[in-house]
Amino acid sequence: MAYKFLIIGAGLSGTVLANRLSAALDCTIEIWDERDHIAGNCHTKRDEKTGIMVHEYGPHIFNTDKKEIWDFVNSFMEFKPYVHRVKAMSSGKVYSLPVNLHTINQFFNKTLTPDEAREFLETQADKTIEDPQNFEEQAMRFIGKDLYKAFFYGYTKKQWGCEPTELPASILKRIPVRFNYDDNYHNNIYTGIPVDGYTGLIEKFIDNPKINVTLNKKFDSKEDTSGYDHVFYTGPIDAWFHYKHGRLGYRTVTFETIYAEGDYQGVTQMNYCEADVPHTRITEHKHFTYWEKHNDTICFKEFSKETTPDDIPYYPKRLQADKVLLQQYREEAARLSTTSFLGRLATYRYMDMHNVIGEALSYAAHFITATQSNSIPDVFPNDEAF
Ligand code: UDP
Repeated sequence: MAYKFLIIGAGLSGTVLANRLSAALDCTIEIWDERDHIAGNCHTKRDEKTGIMVHEYGPHIFNTDKKEIWDFVNSFMEFKPYVHRVKAMSSGKVYSLPVNLHTINQFFNKTLTPDEAREFLETQADKTIEDPQNFEEQAMRFIGKDLYKAFFYGYTKKQWGCEPTELPASILKRIPVRFNYDDNYHNNIYTGIPVDGYTGLIEKFIDNPKINVTLNKKFDSKEDTSGYDHVFYTGPIDAWFHYKHGRLGYRTVTFETIYAEGDYQGVTQMNYCEADVPHTRITEHKHFTYWEKHNDTICFKEFSKETTPDDIPYYPKRLQADKVLLQQYREEAARLSTTSFLGRLATYRYMDMHNVIGEALSYAAHFITATQSNSIPDVFPNDEAF
């Protein structure tokens, strides 16, 4: 008899999972999503006025070091090679990010070689910090006060709505520091943009008669789901429990759309690093699809704010109080038997797309093996990351 599965959320986690389960098991899969489109926060759509492919929820660049993940996504759609170049506005000047030799030389008005720059930054670094415990300490330890204040302090305060001392060092570790002129924002071997956008890619993941998607359908965990053999939940974990212990902290972002002729800023992403400039960054979408020609342009000016119950959650804050709450929800979730919690919101982590896909692929493999051997699958994808 065919298994009946329910997946809550048509974002990357839910759709990759649906793809793998439908390929391996005799099953039917229902996917419900409360929004009016698939693809979650990676949703892309052609703008009606300009025809430009817009990243509706902010910039998404696919980057990974894992060949199997790169091969997986490329088996559904061609990815064009894309190098993300980010510029940063600070004290009325434009610099290159991530911090690289050009940034260092320009900022300190020097002409250092790679070795000289390395030595120079050592003199800037606060060596009294041996084991950085938070974002600020990580910055002070590795790049020193001046670069930290110019590029990270103000931006981070705007982005996260708190002092960088309250944030984990891991957030800063996302961004490399380079002692050469490489200004690729990402360190990964494979980086690219899907030719027909992420929504087109995700449509292909779920292009299978076994899979049925219902949009505009909000899920409530109190609903009777006994007709399904298993429920895979990719929504916020605290929402599953009706926030009974309290709400996990998220930042959300809002966008102001800018239309212009030609080229607005000459680069996909310009960051505004000062605390008194209200927006964090401006994304010019047409530079993602450099192989297309568009006379006009559309940009998103991005603002960050605290999430209210009606906002879409973007960035999990993971402050100390959040971690305590998360632990309470995780303990309760672990007691559920025919439910799994998967992805950024259900596991409450800051995850890149390739991590989400990698985890969905390995969880799908785990679930398929458990099903075929009649054993009980894990509720969460992997415990190491918590
Ligand atoms: N960040 C910063 N200044 C910048 C860019 C990033 O301070 O110009 C900090 C900020 O705290 C941000 C973190 O570095 O949240 C990670 O940046 P990333 O570009 O990876 O953020 P994302 O694109 O995921 O929003």
